[in-house]
Amino acid sequence: MTIYTGPVFDMARTQFQRIADHLDIPADERDRLLYPKRAVTVSCPIHRDDGRTEVFEGYRVQHHLTLGPTKGGTRFSPALDIGEVAALAVWMSWKCALAGLPYGGAKGGVAVDPRALSLRELEALSRRYMQEMIPFVGAHTDVMAPDMGTNEQVMAWFMDTYSMHRGHTVTEIVTGKPVACGGTLGRREATGNGVVYLIARAMERLGVPLAGTTAIVQGFGNVGSVTAQALMARGVKVIGVSDHTACYFDRHGLDVPALLRHAEARGALAGFSSELAADPATLLTQPCDILVPAALERVIGGQMAAQLQCRVLAEAANGPTTPDADLVLEQRPEIFVIPDILCNAGGVIVSYFEWVQDLQQFFWDADEVNTKLNAVLERAFQAVMDRAAQRRVAHRTAAMAIGVAKVRDAKAKRGLFP
Ligand code: GLU
Repeated sequence: MTIYTGPVFDMARTQFQRIADHLDIPADERDRLLYPKRAVTVSCPIHRDDGRTEVFEGYRVQHHLTLGPTKGGTRFSPALDIGEVAALAVWMSWKCALAGLPYGGAKGGVAVDPRALSLRELEALSRRYMQEMIPFVGAHTDVMAPDMGTNEQVMAWFMDTYSMHRGHTVTEIVTGKPVACGGTLGRREATGNGVVYLIARAMERLGVPLAGTTAIVQGFGNVGSVTAQALMARGVKVIGVSDHTACYFDRHGLDVPALLRHAEARGALAGFSSELAADPATLLTQPCDILVPAALERVIGGQMAAQLQCRVLAEAANGPTTPDADLVLEQRPEIFVIPDILCNAGGVIVSYFEWVQDLQQFFWDADEVNTKLNAVLERAFQAVMDRAAQRRVAHRTAAMAIGVAKVRDAKAKRGLFP
């Protein structure tokens, strides 16, 4: 038992143990690699609009500091706990190492339903959360970013709060900011565009032309909606989408631009159509070429893995597939898995570009951002494909092994202090 024990951290630990076995990591080295360096819990009191004071619990977990500052998003979600945050921080570490970024992983967030707050309350909570985190973060210590339930506006409030405290503007304290205040071009679309770049590479390897294939996307936040749009732009027919409010399916293809307009105007998919409404419980097991879970972790368990009817499973969410499901998928080589730490790495890769631009105060055009993004993704994709082929292991095993081995190697070379 640790403070992290719970279903999500247990999943990260099981995955890690499998990789540690695969890499023959001695037992006494494992805890040093797996357990977070630091975990902070803070109380964030705010005035509600009705005059009450309410306290929300906030967290930040910094997994390892071996390769540079820690890096990772901030999640505002009602059932968030320290174990989930820690698992997400661990996954960020393997993701950053796989992409070759000079970061350890981190994650943070607040246990709150951001949709239940007014804009003023959301600003108060965002600022108070950053205020409480000031002793623990820094441009060379820990750099925050958006995640589920937060966005560019929240990042702008974080940056402003930190800057007011320091007495000058510190854009490099957080990434995913609006372009108007030190953000980079291409960050908002980076995760979704990266997902589609990798789907296209997977399809190439399968010898299937991308145009004319079908896709189902679970989740219609920043990642899901950009992915749907970018798939459509490549000629893919998006036949199913869902979010926490609604689920739609049409074998002939959904009207993605209309869905985007609806979600933009109404904040969610609910109310788009009654004829196209479908059962969210069976969305992921419908026949399609490309399946994109882009919402929560642990949505594909062992039973569902046996029922999937896709060619490519593109894990845009963090941790959508459980270790039980992995065992099933290892017996289903007809499904090409793009593991989460590769599939959604576009977001943190362009966050890294944003941090570099902020540190240098020298900004790139969108072409430069996107060309460099594709180059980093391509290198990581090739490395995963090569290792999977050479060792005859699953794509997730290959991807995680590359990430874990890089962190382990850096720790070994730096040695143990003191
Ligand atoms: N929250 C995103 C992720 O899970 C992005 C993190 C970042 O840009 O630092 O990868």
